[in-house]
Amino acid sequence: MAKKTAAKKKASPTAKASSPKSDKYVYLFGKAKTDGNGGMKPLLGGKGANLAEMCRIGLPVPPGFTITTEVCTYYYEHKRSYPSVLRGQMEAGIATIEKQTGRKFGDAKDPLLVSVRSGARDSMPGMMDTILNLGLNDETVEALSKKTGNPRFAWDCYRRFVQMYGDVVLGVQKGPDEDHEPFETVIETLKHERHHKDIEDTKLTADDLQELVRRFKALVKERSGKDFPTSPWDQLMGAVGAVFGSWMNDRAIVYRRKYNIPTEWGTAVNVQAMVYGNTGDQSGSGVAFTRNPANGTKEFYGEFLINAQGEDVVAGVRTPEPVAELKKHMAKAYAELERIRQTLETHFKDVQDFEFTIEDGVVYMLQTRNGKRTAMAALKFSMDMYKEKLIDWKTAVMRNPADQLDQLLAPVFDANEVKKAATIATGLPAGPGAASGQIYLNADRAVVAAEKGEKVLLVRVETSPEDLRGMIAAEGILTARGGVSSHAALVARQMGKVCVCGAAALEVDYQARTVKVDGKTFKEGDWLSIDGTAGKVFAGRVATAPSEIVAALIHNDASAKGTEKFKSFQQLMKWCDSATRMGVRTNADTPEQTQNALAFGAVGIGLCRTEHMFFEGDRIDAMREMILAETLEARKAALAKLLPYQRDDFAGIFRALKGYPATIRFLDPPLHEFLPHTKEQQQSLGKKLGIAADKIHTRVEQLHEFNPMLGFRGCRLGIEFPEISEMQARAVFEAAAIVQKEGIKVRPEVMIPLVGFKKEFDLQLEVVHRVAKEVQAEKKVKLNYLVGTMIEVPRGALTADEIAQTAEFFSFGTNDLTQTGLGMSRDDSGSFLPHYADLEIVTKNPFATIDAAGVGQLVEVAVTRGRKVRPSLKLGICGEHGGDPASIHFFEKVGLDYVSASPYRVPVARLAAAQAALARK
Ligand code: PEP
Ligand code: MG
Repeated sequence: MAKKTAAKKKASPTAKASSPKSDKYVYLFGKAKTDGNGGMKPLLGGKGANLAEMCRIGLPVPPGFTITTEVCTYYYEHKRSYPSVLRGQMEAGIATIEKQTGRKFGDAKDPLLVSVRSGARDSMPGMMDTILNLGLNDETVEALSKKTGNPRFAWDCYRRFVQMYGDVVLGVQKGPDEDHEPFETVIETLKHERHHKDIEDTKLTADDLQELVRRFKALVKERSGKDFPTSPWDQLMGAVGAVFGSWMNDRAIVYRRKYNIPTEWGTAVNVQAMVYGNTGDQSGSGVAFTRNPANGTKEFYGEFLINAQGEDVVAGVRTPEPVAELKKHMAKAYAELERIRQTLETHFKDVQDFEFTIEDGVVYMLQTRNGKRTAMAALKFSMDMYKEKLIDWKTAVMRNPADQLDQLLAPVFDANEVKKAATIATGLPAGPGAASGQIYLNADRAVVAAEKGEKVLLVRVETSPEDLRGMIAAEGILTARGGVSSHAALVARQMGKVCVCGAAALEVDYQARTVKVDGKTFKEGDWLSIDGTAGKVFAGRVATAPSEIVAALIHNDASAKGTEKFKSFQQLMKWCDSATRMGVRTNADTPEQTQNALAFGAVGIGLCRTEHMFFEGDRIDAMREMILAETLEARKAALAKLLPYQRDDFAGIFRALKGYPATIRFLDPPLHEFLPHTKEQQQSLGKKLGIAADKIHTRVEQLHEFNPMLGFRGCRLGIEFPEISEMQARAVFEAAAIVQKEGIKVRPEVMIPLVGFKKEFDLQLEVVHRVAKEVQAEKKVKLNYLVGTMIEVPRGALTADEIAQTAEFFSFGTNDLTQTGLGMSRDDSGSFLPHYADLEIVTKNPFATIDAAGVGQLVEVAVTRGRKVRPSLKLGICGEHGGDPASIHFFEKVGLDYVSASPYRVPVARLAAAQAALARK
């Protein structure tokens, strides 16, 4: 801890030096003056920047100001205090709002009330805190009441304010042994005392609300030991501190980790004049998207609540009405919203997700941002907006998040199974796809079950940010209450989770841990299935079928080929091909995998791990015989048995490749991995091979290593036993000769693993060339082949200029290069890496996303040194990073020729490679 603090202190002068010179911490927005604009997200946060932008294009935005993210940084670097000039700038900001609204902060006649909201650079829905109606106290509430002639409204604002402020700033929250929020309990009690039934909040009278304020304040005093603050400025400073404080709350941290948002970005705070959606039935609040973010349809999509403030809509407490219904209630306001919808899309050229409030029939905009969307919606948006000439094809490519693309390949429910299944409830289709799972009603239990390997469906009345961990762990999310902009829907959309929300027929009983629906009771652990595309809930487990894209490409299904989803996908991939510089190959070991990868657009094999072939059928016996052989002759005899198998495998792969190249790697794993380790297994193998079991045992002991990953593996095997490489080379070239004679072009690329010294490579190269020569002479063919190496140990990378003298290609084995570069076992790092992520020692798992600053340098050095001596050196990557979008951007930057990914990741890699190329143009 001490070290960490010291390091931080040291870092701050540099942080200061790099920040802008200006001491401007407050940026105004509104009709009178707007300082910022939409391009200033790092400084003003997403919300602040877009509020400013909306003011600039003349949309109706209540005036306000943004306190910059620099203040957040300052706050954490200075023991939670503010720059000295901040208060003065805020006072000037409030004065500007006062001038524009004609109201005064804390005024006893016509008080200005404000909202205080967080706004980070990237939106973090529901992760941080918001306070509304700030500025109310016993005096100003009376003024508000008199001024509006609406005491019910004034007291409703006040009780909301005390409730939010009590919760967020004063920490009056649900304790570990409480089932309900304490403020909600107070409301429920009063409703029962005074009305003897569950009435809606809107039915509470002014007198009820006044009594609630009194009880809320008492609750605050009891729980926090403090009186509720009465001075508006005290309230404001407290609220600003709470918003900055919420940047480091648990759920914000979990969220940032999931989405790789750096802590140092900080949040901005927006202070804005209140407009009131709760003044009566000509008022309301809503959330809308300019198009449908679940399936992409071009329709005005969203929902609203009459006589409500914004939080009611998002919290999912009352189920809101679809925005189209607004036409009936308030035709003029609806027409204005339609106009705004068009303006937003024309201006931002992307689908917007916005918040609005209608106060006495007048529409105000409180926020807009690019809407989070499912992969399916992203695809449709990009295609439609291209057709509408809002965006060009390159932008369309960029609009499809590469790391979400595999959602489109995820299975859907099998149509025949669905016909048989009983639909027990319907809800809103909030996250498309199919999910079957064992139900859990609580996030913690869902996490535990998922960790045990169960497929989990998280079922809740509604979700809140506290449920995030459970939502991450679950296959799908099902809620009984809440609309398309409820927390569940929002998060599901972003994570690509299958989600059905607002399935009102579900009776979720947290106490009994049961869900009653359609006359049946489901306990925790029972199976339910949800179709997030159709919004249906099925009893039990429903079998899934491949997505239309997989059905069309892999199973050649004609009807799937006719679907819009498939056609759009193909169009996207076509554009990717026009944009991309790098090729995308695949890691495949069988003809079937190869065919699949080619159907997904791979242009060759980047890694064929030959050892996988030795595990099939009887081959493992011959392999074991080879390892157990005590003489060269015996080993050769065993290898001779393996040769036909390998030759057939390679021939199958070459045929499937139809002329595309195949990088074939020679044997790599430590030999002990092929031998049985238990006594029983050794005995049975002994019987089969006619060898004494204790001999097998002795050989296993001999091969035992303390660090097998750094031991007798890779090219070290072929150097010790050249006859193994000889057999493999013969299998490759004989297969090549056979397939070439069938009229199919064959391009084998023999790859030597784990090379650190040029001499290692050269020894193996000699074997390969010798065998190639022999086979070409025997078969009377001329073969076109390359011999190259993997670069997967640091010494290989650093001496790339030597190795490239004889190696014709490099393929970066970034799994081992990460392991050896970081000195971190790829198999054992799971025990400490999560903690490293918590401490932000690593921001991403380096085995999933390339450690560009460290291991990346080894790649760069090898690229530069290798190409210097051999400009034509072919460069690829075949570690797991080859299918990871962030890593692919790095590989584009360093100039690799191709990446290689597993077959089902090929589309993701193609999209990422295209985007990486476009991003550099
Ligand atoms: C690598 O090390 O990155 C690689 C592709 O080889 P393997 O994973 O088989 O060790
Ligand atoms: Mg390796």
